[in-house]
Formats: sequence, C-alpha cells, structure tokens
Amino acid sequence: MKSARITEPNEPLTISDIETPRPHDTQVLIRVKSVGVCHSDLHLWEGGYDLGDGQFMKVTDRGVKYPVTPGHEIVGTVEEMGDGVSGIAKGDKVLVFPWIGCGKCPACKVGDENLCDTPRSIGVFQDGGYSDYVLVSHFRYLAKLDGVDSDAATSLACSGLTAYTAIKKSNQNSPEFIVIIGAGGLGLMGVQVAKAVTDAKVICIDLDDQKLETAKKMGADFVFNSKDPKTDQKIMSVCNDKGADSVVDFVNAPPTVKLGLAILRKRGNLVLVGLFGGSVELSLVTIPLKSIIIQGAYTGNYNDMVELLDLARKGTINPVISKRYSLDEANTALEDLKARKIIGRAVINP
Ligand code: NAD
Ligand code: ZN
Repeated sequence: MKSARITEPNEPLTISDIETPRPHDTQVLIRVKSVGVCHSDLHLWEGGYDLGDGQFMKVTDRGVKYPVTPGHEIVGTVEEMGDGVSGIAKGDKVLVFPWIGCGKCPACKVGDENLCDTPRSIGVFQDGGYSDYVLVSHFRYLAKLDGVDSDAATSLACSGLTAYTAIKKSNQNSPEFIVIIGAGGLGLMGVQVAKAVTDAKVICIDLDDQKLETAKKMGADFVFNSKDPKTDQKIMSVCNDKGADSVVDFVNAPPTVKLGLAILRKRGNLVLVGLFGGSVELSLVTIPLKSIIIQGAYTGNYNDMVELLDLARKGTINPVISKRYSLDEANTALEDLKARKIIGRAVINP
C-alpha cells in the first residue's frame, strides 16, 4: 500500500510503498476514502510542542516513533477483518475513532480512552490515515456512517469531537456569552457546536478576516480581528462590560491566553484547547478573587463522537471542507495549512 510518512521532523513526507497489514482477531483493515489534515499533524511533523521559555517537548519523548504515517481523521470502507469481528461487513462505510487507550487505566475504565495514561492514538503513536489502508485494532473503534458525506465526516473524529467536548465544558451555569478564539478547523466547528448546544451569544476571534467571515456564516453573533489593539474593549462592550462567561481558546498561545484572561467574567471559565504553545505569567490573586476556572480539553471519547455523528446526520452541524488533495500531495496539504491558506478543513483522498 502507498503511505505518506514522516521519517524525521521537518523533512518532507516520503511517499512509501509498505506492506499492507493483515487483520487478525478483533482487527479491521480499512480502505481509506478520506482523511482530514489537522494542525496536530503539523505539530507531529515539526517534532513536538513549544513549551515556552525556549523549551520544546519532543513527541519522541512522549512515545512517538518515526517513521510514522500521520492522519487521525479517517473515513473509509471495511476491506478485511479478523475472526473475532462482529457487527460489521466488508464494504461498510465507517468513521474511525482514533483516540485509542490501553483499556486498563482509570480513564479507559470509564470510557475516556482519549485521556489514557499510555495512549496508542492512530496517526500519532501508530500508523494513521495518510495511506491507502489503515489497520484498526478493534472493531469497537468504528462507527457506521450513513447520511453524512465522507469528506465532511472526517472532522467528526478530531476537530468536531474536540470542539464538542470543549464547548460542553464551557457550557456550565447557562453562559450568556462564549468567546471562541481561532476560526480554523477546530474553531469553526466550535462556533457551530456552541450555536447548536448552548443558548449563549457566540463571539469569534481570529487574525484573518476571511476566516471570520466564514465564522459569521456558521452562526457567530459577533466577530473581531485580534490584530485590532482594541479587541478586548470591544468584546467587553458586547458583554455588557462584565466579560464573557466562557472563553474557549483553540489557539492557546501567549497573546490569545492573555486576551482570554482579560475578558473573562467573574466566575468565568477558560477552556484551553489549542497546542500552539508558549507560556504566560499569571497574576495569582485574580484567580481566587474572580473565582475563575482554567481547564484543558483533549479530543473526546467514543460516545461523544457518536453523539456528534447524530448532530451531523440531522444537519445541525456541517463541517466546512474547502480543499481536497491526493496522497501524493500530502506535503502541499501540510504546507498550505501551515501558511494558513485553508478555510475550515482540507482532506486527502488517497
Ligand atoms: P488551524 O490551523 O485550522 O486553525 C488555527 C486558527 O487559529 C487559524 O484560523 C489562525 O488564523 C488562528 N490563529 C493563529 N494564531 C492566532 C492568534 N494569535 N490569534 C487569533 N487567531 C489565531 O488549526 P486547527 O486544526 O483548528 O487546530 C488548532 C490547534 O488545536 C492546533 O494547535 C492543534 O494541534 C490543536 N488541537 C488540539 C486538540 C485537543 O484535543 N486539545 C485536538 C486537535 C487539534
Ligand atoms: Zn486533529
């Protein structure tokens, strides 16, 4: 099979011919139809995350082994399966849940495999969907797809799923105003999900006017370009000078976190999602005085993915897919995402 693989950080992906895996027991081999190009693929390609103060967290120190095939937002058809598989048939169209855990730690035991102590995520710790085929270790990680377009459905495994759990965390105590920072793949899903599952007015922030226009089309009530130094004042004014109940930061870099903290209302809730990284200094007394919550959100669990699939089936959320690439164009797809040329999501159709 043909796979686009990262051999070492920042080097072009190689298009390699590797042996197609054969499924055993509970395993299922999926013929990939469409795979989303996520900003996390860029972090994997760059070799890690910016921790701030000149520190860098290498993905190889977290268990990633190169060469690795990226791609965790996978839709495909069942090609072949092991003897222990039931409930699916050859040719079924499926969405793959990629956030696979060990099955034994406290998180896995309550169904939150996405928060596993020793994750085995597809497209990160094991080969993913930038490939003709992908091997899935257990059929319980598949969700049958019907009534949702293949390209659009890819988003439901990561960008949509992450937005869904992050917005659920932001939706405490009936928020009046939710601010969404970043109108990329995740943020645009965040806007749609926030409009679908909360009663809040949604304010969206980005550096790019074209992305903000799309956010408005997706239902954002107010949009602001944070290149404008008065963005914080403008948001405060929209929020009746009290601030936002929740801020969901899909960028999570020093300027966005500073903005988030500045516009957060008393009792407010800051949900950090993006992995752009860096570090900030916190003024400690404001945290108890304002009694704010700062929390993280990382992808979502299988049940959340199935709930989201239902919202997509009903047409409540519509992932924006603006560009399609062949597998041979995997490098261009990543370069275009890095250069911020993609509205919503791009997909690769191997
Ligand atoms: P993307 O590249 O599609 O979108 C990022 C958006 O942020 C762009 O619209 C860009 O213009 C905007 N932006 C960048 N810097 C900004 C700034 N300083 N102020 C305002 N806007 C700014 O990326 P994506 O796929 O949406 O992913 C976003 C981040 O979330 C990435 O770091 C990705 O790795 C991470 N991520 C986290 C999880 C999780 O579970 N926590 C899951 C998937 C992705
Ligand atoms: Zn992702």
